[in-house]
Amino acid sequence: MMNDIAQNIEKVLNEIPDNIQLVAVSKTKPVEVIKEAYDAGFRIFGENRVQELIEKQPQLPDDIRWHMIGHLQTNKVKYIASFVDMIESVDSLKLLNTINKEAEKANRQIDCLLQFHIAQEESKYGFRIEEVEEMLSSDILKQLPYIRLKGVMGMGTFTDDQNVLIAEFSYLKSLYDKLKENFFGSDSAFKEVSMGMSGDYKLAIREGSTMIRLGTSIFGRRSSCQIV
Ligand SMILES: *Cc1c(COP(=O)(O)O)cnc(C)c1O
Repeated sequence: MMNDIAQNIEKVLNEIPDNIQLVAVSKTKPVEVIKEAYDAGFRIFGENRVQELIEKQPQLPDDIRWHMIGHLQTNKVKYIASFVDMIESVDSLKLLNTINKEAEKANRQIDCLLQFHIAQEESKYGFRIEEVEEMLSSDILKQLPYIRLKGVMGMGTFTDDQNVLIAEFSYLKSLYDKLKENFFGSDSAFKEVSMGMSGDYKLAIREGSTMIRLGTSIFGRRSSCQIV
């Protein structure tokens, strides 16, 4: 008999196209709960705080692919560089430089997404497109061999207004298309558009998402006051 979490994952996987990656956002959830999803065969989990991630990671199997999805301070990169599968929340050149340096020390390449600010809320982190275009126009990536840029990430506004969300998601997809065309034409690794959470992932997929990050619809509601 399947447990609830396994069933929730199964249900989501059945309703999304095969080429969409699901990241199960396990923030605030204990390792026992993550283990249930793991035992059902699921491997990709997202956390938004370094402290929580480094507490959970050693208690769980090594073949879990951990995605860092929350704002990451440069002085904390060193704690996750040896094992993190992808950093989705890269929001500055300074952070990219630090990830490169720590990845080199760990003797591995780290997959990263460039996070863009697409929501109306002030508080959300992310690049502006001009910053990224300037960065990529310079030779900077050649100096960051331990980084592999795999695409873009963004969070929509916390709203029920579908039109607002559609506009934000299609904007992020258009940023991805522009970067792909101008800077990554021959780089097949640059292919991800990470957008869509429990409340809006169907819309996000319609607007071109390749990676959805679901917490609530897999693990249930988070009880704490932590919002993101
Ligand atoms: C918490 C969080 C999610 C998942 O949110 P749900 O609404 O519970 O699906 C997705 N992305 C980021 C960056 C988050 O912090």
